[in-house]
Amino acid sequence: MTANVAGGSTVSKMIDPFGRHVTYLRVSVTDRCDFRCVYCMSENMTFLPKKDLLSLEELDRLCSAFVDKGVRKLRLTGGEPLVRKNILYLFRQLSRHLESGALDELTVTTNGSQLHRYAAELYSLGVRRVNVSLDTLDDKKFKAITRWGDLDTVLNGITAAQDAGLQVKINTVALKGVNEGEIEDMISWSHGQGMDYTLIETMPLGEIDENRVDQYLPLSVVRARLMDRWTLKEIPYKTGGPARYVEVKETGGRLGFITPMTHNFCESCNRVRITCTGTLYMCLGQDDAADLRAPLRASEGNDLLSSAIDEAISRKPKGHDFVIDRRTEKPSVSRHMSVTGG
Ligand code: SAM
Ligand code: SF4
Repeated sequence: MTANVAGGSTVSKMIDPFGRHVTYLRVSVTDRCDFRCVYCMSENMTFLPKKDLLSLEELDRLCSAFVDKGVRKLRLTGGEPLVRKNILYLFRQLSRHLESGALDELTVTTNGSQLHRYAAELYSLGVRRVNVSLDTLDDKKFKAITRWGDLDTVLNGITAAQDAGLQVKINTVALKGVNEGEIEDMISWSHGQGMDYTLIETMPLGEIDENRVDQYLPLSVVRARLMDRWTLKEIPYKTGGPARYVEVKETGGRLGFITPMTHNFCESCNRVRITCTGTLYMCLGQDDAADLRAPLRASEGNDLLSSAIDEAISRKPKGHDFVIDRRTEKPSVSRHMSVTGG
């Protein structure tokens, strides 16, 4: 049985060796994307053959098995989740768990390129919050970072999302020498529009065309700079994710920090991730994984799948092994963020 307990946390049937309850599933529904962000992908990516992907029906079955086992929050991500063909079908299927009360939240992380088309329908299917990744408000820099993206389309998407009633959170990867001078303006802009704002440290995931040491900007440095200008007050706000939040007194808005590099947040990790081929990663920063596609396809019932999930959760590691320094040439984890889903 899954039950809500005081304080909004939940009890799950999936409990790892360190006593952490797994209540949050992130699902990468595709490894493809219409952008090529410099910290995420190389320009010439080889994507999985379409035949290796789980169908939307299989993704529904897999997600639903996790909901049965105690997942209360589902986030669809990618690659770019909203470029997967007929993706609204999956949202529609999964929304039945919101209606039944089995799921607290169905949400999505997107680059915003398709939001102008889908925002209203996402809202009607029970999505209430979306995370939009946006690293700059400067047209030229946006092109340089995303390689293929268009800033105005994303800004129109954000407006459409807000008009549809979706709560938008902006996520920015802090990039040394690229957007570091713009962070205060982006905070003011986001808070001015009633949006939360979260900064993320770059993580060494997958080979890219650039050197990660050149990109890496510790958020401890950014935070110290912000404190010269603003008053940051620690607040207990939690969204079920790894961000730690402060309130910026001067803007009245919330500012989150996701700091896998400078401050390890693994002790409170409640998440696992599945890829679009049905591979379960128990930790974003480790290579250990479990194949769920074979047990999913082996029978129509969920017994095999459920056992495979239990076995995998029993191997959830204590924490990640990320390192970014000049001596470490290879990424800590060889797969790209677009495979496991951010
Ligand atoms: N395409 C969608 C998007 O950009 O929001 C969803 C997938 S994307 C992989 C999810 C998040 O991961 C984005 O906020 C992106 O900026 C972030 N990301 C990608 N590669 C990263 C890396 N190496 N380190 C830190 N964040 C990364
Ligand atoms: Fe695509 Fe998101 Fe990766 Fe950018 S961060 S390349 S938008 S998956």
